[in-house]
Amino acid sequence: MSCVFCKIAAKEIKSAVVHETENVIAFDDINPQAPVHAVIIPKKHVEDISGIHDVLPEIFGVIGRVVEKKGLKDNGFRVVMNKGKDAGQAVPHLHLHLLGGRQMHWPPG
Ligand code: 5GP
Ligand code: ZN
Repeated sequence: MSCVFCKIAAKEIKSAVVHETENVIAFDDINPQAPVHAVIIPKKHVEDISGIHDVLPEIFGVIGRVVEKKGLKDNGFRVVMNKGKDAGQAVPHLHLHLLGGRQMHWPPG
């Protein structure tokens, strides 16, 4: 398996894990775009949302836990999912970005 996020989920590549459940793992992004920048993934390799119905509640639960752990409850945060070329998706394993700790701009670039 050559997918970098599969390797992170399997702990073959080291990452700073923020929170982990049976099917989901959240870790600090290696190239953070904000003071807090976590990536949240299903451990199973899934390429798009059609494959993650079952794990969606768990993903949103983990978002909540990361928000608590990173102290973003009061000031807020942004959740982003890049899909495909136009969004600049680099890793083809479905993931959400959780960004916080600074003022965000809208519309995003
Ligand atoms: P995408 O552009 O696909 O939505 O985002 C992929 C994200 O994964 C990027 O923000 C990138 O910095 C992060 N990333 C890529 N490789 C690694 C890695 O090996 N470790 C960690 N922690 N993050 C990674
Ligand atoms: Zn994968």
